[in-house]
Amino acid sequence: MTIRCPKCNSDSFTTRDTGRKIGGAIGATVGATSALTGALKGSQVGMRVGAYAGPAGSLGGALIGALVGCATGAATGATVGKVIDEKVLNNCVCTECEQEFNPHF
Ligand SMILES: [Zn+2]
Repeated sequence: MTIRCPKCNSDSFTTRDTGRKIGGAIGATVGATSALTGALKGSQVGMRVGAYAGPAGSLGGALIGALVGCATGAATGATVGKVIDEKVLNNCVCTECEQEFNPHF
């Protein structure tokens, strides 16, 4: 099924993906923040046992935790944003007449 502009019936259009972009950015920020909080707690514990385990272990753990949290948050945010794009926003913009429309009406 070809998606066409409801105004001029053109099949050339672009997608804005506003929700996906914003959702990904918010998700990455939230994910990094929560990961950072966990990493800080982890490094505090790591400092107490640092005499036995060494500081490199807690630093590495904190970095990996932050990266995983950031990537997970971004993926979650992008998924939520994609749904918002498809269900709520007029995600398509006609390149012929600049009509904004939702392909899932
Ligand atoms: Zn059009």
